[in-house]
Amino acid sequence: MSRLGRRVLVAGAGVSGRSAAEALLAEGAEVTVTDASRERLAGLAELGSAGARLLPALSEPPEGTDLVVTSPGWRPDSPLLENAAARGTEVIGETELAWRLDRSREKPADWLAVTGTNGKTTTVGMLESILRAAGIDAVACGNVGLPAVDAVRAGHEVLAVELSSFQLHWSDTLAPYAGVVLNLAEDHLDWHGSLRAYGLAKSAVYRGNTVSVYNLDDPTSTRLAREHVGAAGVGVTLGAPSEGQLGIADGLLLDRAFGEEGTTEGGSVPLAALTDVRQVGEHNLSNALVACALARCRGVPARACAEGLRAFAPGQHRSVPVGEEDGVVYVDDSKATNPHAAAAALHAHSRLVWIAGGLLKGAEVDELVRAHASRFLGVVLIGTESGRIAEALERHAPGVPVVRIPPEHEDPMGEAVRSARELAEPDSAVVLAPAAASMDMYTDYAHRGREFAAAVRAVLAGPESGP
Ligand code: ADP
Repeated sequence: MSRLGRRVLVAGAGVSGRSAAEALLAEGAEVTVTDASRERLAGLAELGSAGARLLPALSEPPEGTDLVVTSPGWRPDSPLLENAAARGTEVIGETELAWRLDRSREKPADWLAVTGTNGKTTTVGMLESILRAAGIDAVACGNVGLPAVDAVRAGHEVLAVELSSFQLHWSDTLAPYAGVVLNLAEDHLDWHGSLRAYGLAKSAVYRGNTVSVYNLDDPTSTRLAREHVGAAGVGVTLGAPSEGQLGIADGLLLDRAFGEEGTTEGGSVPLAALTDVRQVGEHNLSNALVACALARCRGVPARACAEGLRAFAPGQHRSVPVGEEDGVVYVDDSKATNPHAAAAALHAHSRLVWIAGGLLKGAEVDELVRAHASRFLGVVLIGTESGRIAEALERHAPGVPVVRIPPEHEDPMGEAVRSARELAEPDSAVVLAPAAASMDMYTDYAHRGREFAAAVRAVLAGPESGP
């Protein structure tokens, strides 16, 4: 009989649902998988052959269900989950399932957990690279792609786990060896209801930590850490570090928290040069410091920090140049799906044409527009909720030319790039950093980024080089 539940309902047949169902079957549980999409269920035919029951949309768990493992994006007020809760049936997420499975193993992994509004994927990628440079069998998993349950079943020594606020919401005993809330800004408020509830979900990453890491330059990260871990914890800052912190001085990433035998230099250990961090922008230095802090708390030597940071290749659609013409660089930061991420992208350029818009998910854009108004040569708006950005521009950037592309335009991204090209000047940038989600017009942010890169290629090539 399974240690994790006898009769388990997996709600949602996506990537993590499939992995959860496989793990549960291997544990000997009776597994039912439900999803409103018959197409998705059909994709799980193999699990069906292995004994899982596959059912279309349910509003109640089947009789006798003693555990529900939900897809992280499902809202707690969806009828199935509400009915499960009303019956007293436990509801957890796939990450919590992975945690429980791991704890039941003879030699559980060390979990180094990363959450925050922005920078999670970059930070766990850097962390994985640093751990591997130190010869540790580590893998990046969780929200980053590889489900945590698969990473646990593969038996890795250390997990660099990216956790979304949704995954944390559904994890009630997860207690990682070390954790960090990188930053907190308005995002997903339509799901969580308020910034407070969102912060509370994120701060679960500090539960039971041996070492808690926080960002001294982000007031909310600092406050959450102080509330949840008291004075204990390791702060990181872009400034010079005090004792017990990691920070930056004289072009070096420095550690004054963990120490290292044989190295004393005003008490700090040089970890890496700033140039070892190859991704642009201060926010990436901050991500690198956090990755170093998490690696160092697992005993990683300084040398591996520099090596790992140098070896790290960043993900697509995160401030990646995709074209250049007459001193104008075209930058794809389609991953900037909220105003906080867009701010980091805009901050890197002193003169730019900004391409923005999409689904704002309840976020405010006034502060973003106000803070960057002086950099804008022009703004091109795409997507269904572009009106709210246009209003903010009227209030805070009255002289800046604004072009709105209607969502029903036959080639909205092509038109956006053509308009941006008109507005750009030599030594400036055209930056796609939408500050909004993409699902109004695209499958996801990657699709939006690909469309942008393709439009840039086509527009810069000019009409004469068409097919
Ligand atoms: P996440 O996994 O949290 O979405 P990513 O590393 O994929 O984070 O980056 C998402 C977006 O946020 C990108 O647009 C990136 O340029 C921006 N970003 C990365 N790190 C930070 C940070 N520390 N603060 C603000 N924005 C960031």
